[in-house]
Amino acid sequence: MSEDLLVQRPEGLYCPAGDFHVDPWRPVARAVITHAHADHARRGHGAYLAQADGAGVLRARLGDITLQPLAWGEAVDIGGVRVSLHPAGHVLGSAQVRLEHRGQVWVASGDYFASAHADERNPTCPPFEPQRCHCFITESTFGLPIYRWRRQAEVFAEIDAWWRANAEAGRASLLLGYSFGKAQRLLAGVDASIGPIVTHGAVESVNEAYRAAGVALPATQTIDALDKAALSRALVVAPPAVHGSAWARRLGDYADAFASGWMQLRGARRRQGVDRGFVLSDHADWPGLQRAIVATGAERVLITHGYEAVMVRWLCEQGLDADSFRTEYGSQDGEPA
Ligand SMILES: [Zn+2]
Ligand SMILES: [Zn+2]
Repeated sequence: MSEDLLVQRPEGLYCPAGDFHVDPWRPVARAVITHAHADHARRGHGAYLAQADGAGVLRARLGDITLQPLAWGEAVDIGGVRVSLHPAGHVLGSAQVRLEHRGQVWVASGDYFASAHADERNPTCPPFEPQRCHCFITESTFGLPIYRWRRQAEVFAEIDAWWRANAEAGRASLLLGYSFGKAQRLLAGVDASIGPIVTHGAVESVNEAYRAAGVALPATQTIDALDKAALSRALVVAPPAVHGSAWARRLGDYADAFASGWMQLRGARRRQGVDRGFVLSDHADWPGLQRAIVATGAERVLITHGYEAVMVRWLCEQGLDADSFRTEYGSQDGEPA
């Protein structure tokens, strides 16, 4: 009899053998956390275990928690289950959780980045590392064939050209992206020689955690540090909530843009009410998901958040044992994508 290493419980994914949860959405005694996005790392757990690089962001968001940080690949024994964390390539410290018990290996992916272009990676964290396992629990945020990311260099060439044109026209470039993960990826990818870079406070506090973890980001300034002339040439990186706010109006004349995987959807830019949309995601696209799943060698695959039905059908067609897990990921302030 093989036993399932992770099962669905009302409070989240639960490991019966080790008596702990992975990314639970209700308070539990012991939580293993894949990454510090709000829908995966919630308040109120008795003890947290997470990858060390993400500890700073986790503490900044959740306050004074009981946290055991783990290095990449370091293994701990929890109730007889060997638990280790492996890079997911999604944001700083984002990990896949590998569980091993009585010869069975299960991996819960959390969110991860893998693109149609096999050599592409998120430069702000170590790349997704497939783990061989019997059962792979995968996200599927962009699990539809329409989602195929272009090369990042092409997207950043467009962002740079947009910023340069705005600077020449004497208006600021307000670039909106989720404050943890997307904003740092934008900062790491743009050509910082075009002009000064301003960040919103919500972005800058996360930047500090990235820099403390050794991630190189260009120099950034506060909005107050620049005069009107300098602001008119600046790239301003801020969270989506800043759109149309009093803070944004302080920029004077500006153009705005939104960077997200959702910008691939027809009409998404218009609904967001921004001048431009750049398709840039920290999640796997459809070919990336397929390649990542195949690379695990898993015969059983469980799908968490995203387009579950389409992915389950594709996996079953490949002869795999596939099913979906009902989770609450992506439900709290939307999935940062
Ligand atoms: Zn995430
Ligand atoms: Zn997620």
